[in-house]
Amino acid sequence: MAVMITSECILCDACAMECPVAAILDEKNEKNPNQSRYYVKPESCVECVGHADSPRCAEACPTQGAIVWDMPYTAEYESYYADGNSNGTYAIRVHNKKGLMLPSVKEQPFIEYISKNDRESHAMLGDW
Ligand code: SF4
Ligand code: SF4
Repeated sequence: MAVMITSECILCDACAMECPVAAILDEKNEKNPNQSRYYVKPESCVECVGHADSPRCAEACPTQGAIVWDMPYTAEYESYYADGNSNGTYAIRVHNKKGLMLPSVKEQPFIEYISKNDRESHAMLGDW
């Protein structure tokens, strides 16, 4: 991923329209594994790299703690995302030909200066 939406989400819809890669699903979307909150598709999120200086979703979100860091969507974290997909944390897209779109199939850009510790602890995105 990237970033993750937590149970603090109040379903306000401010984030989804800001995402440059349409990575955010609302709570009613059938592809959302968490039907009580918005969901970021980790296989799609680019952390806004190449689009903005910081994640646009977090800039738009009015709720502290609703959007937090997650691990980079890179092959290094293949098992993290595979396990998360198996346990229902994520619902990673299945491509017709390529199969499950895990990081080994397609990595995504990430903001390099965010520490591994902040990502592992799902730290809140900063005050922008
Ligand atoms: S960080 Fe950027 S690309 Fe990722 S979900 Fe938020 S707005 Fe979309
Ligand atoms: S902007 Fe924040 S609170 Fe609103 S839907 Fe998105 S994550 Fe939830």
